[in-house]
Amino acid sequence: ALNQSLADLNGRIDVSFEFFPPTTESMEQTLWNSIERLQTLSPKFVSVTYGANSGTRDRTHKVIKEIKERTGLIAAPHLTCIDANRDELRQIAQDYWDNGIRHIVALRGDLPQGMAKPDMYAADLVGLLKEVADFDISVAAYPEVHPEAKSAQADLLNLKRKIDAGASRAITQFFYDVESYLRFRDRCAAIGIEAEIVPGILPVSNYKTLLKFAGFSNVKIPAWLHQRFEGIADDDQTTRNLLGASIAIDMVRVLSREGVKDFHFYTLNRAELTYALCHTLGVRPKPKA
Ligand code: FAD
Repeated sequence: ALNQSLADLNGRIDVSFEFFPPTTESMEQTLWNSIERLQTLSPKFVSVTYGANSGTRDRTHKVIKEIKERTGLIAAPHLTCIDANRDELRQIAQDYWDNGIRHIVALRGDLPQGMAKPDMYAADLVGLLKEVADFDISVAAYPEVHPEAKSAQADLLNLKRKIDAGASRAITQFFYDVESYLRFRDRCAAIGIEAEIVPGILPVSNYKTLLKFAGFSNVKIPAWLHQRFEGIADDDQTTRNLLGASIAIDMVRVLSREGVKDFHFYTLNRAELTYALCHTLGVRPKPKA
């Protein structure tokens, strides 16, 4: 039984990888090294995040185009409603479609400080995209409730609206409380959401930063995670990375045993850990013919 529980998993698992647009040459090199390594795992798609101002928006477009040209992978740009009106969004979508982009991650977007709230929500963006063309659309979901939501139920109904508007899957905010993900998945099923609720996996690389970030994002740090890092949060990179890796591996194993078939990895543009997680799940390069 012990060997069985230590054995690598090997079911039908689909993975996707999220990257962000690099801002320096060395970051760009890191990104491409990572993409080259991770593409051997035949991800279902890879996605690239999108910032609020047009400079970062152009970077997203550029990376998406390059990924598509250099790897042939399905490259999905994130698109938000921030700082663009409906006509501009239609134009961006049309340009993507004309350039062969068929998958978009549709979001309301994070508001930069001082910027006015857009008069659209992600559900409206999904509808707008579907009017432009028949995109494959992913949307965001929040197992522990989005911080601006009126209630957990209102947030869940918002997810249902996004799916009903034409999204084909939801990718979750990162989480560490696996129970809250599983309960959320049940609640989605109970209100008739049939789309896959794909867990977004963010390995811990810096515990102190994570605490801050989890606070803004309304993500619970379970007691076991506090305990795991107690007294070691200031320790050197290696220790923290090893712990972060072992926690992420534990999480994907538990989720896989709970029947999760699709995983989305927030790679932070690094290949190593994501590659190890995929390997553990039984996701390996195809043998060369
Ligand atoms: P929505 O689904 O529109 O929901 C936003 C809030 O409004 C929720 O609280 C919801 O309950 C509420 N709401 C929705 N409709 C209504 C209504 N009609 N009336 C009242 N309240 C309503 N951000 C970026 O800027 N760039 C990225 O690339 C990016 N990538 C992401 C990827 C993933 C997988 C995830 C999970 C998040 C990402 N984000 C990104 C963050 C996201 O943009 C923020 O969390 C944002 O605050 C909410 O976006 P959303 O698409 O979930 O919004």
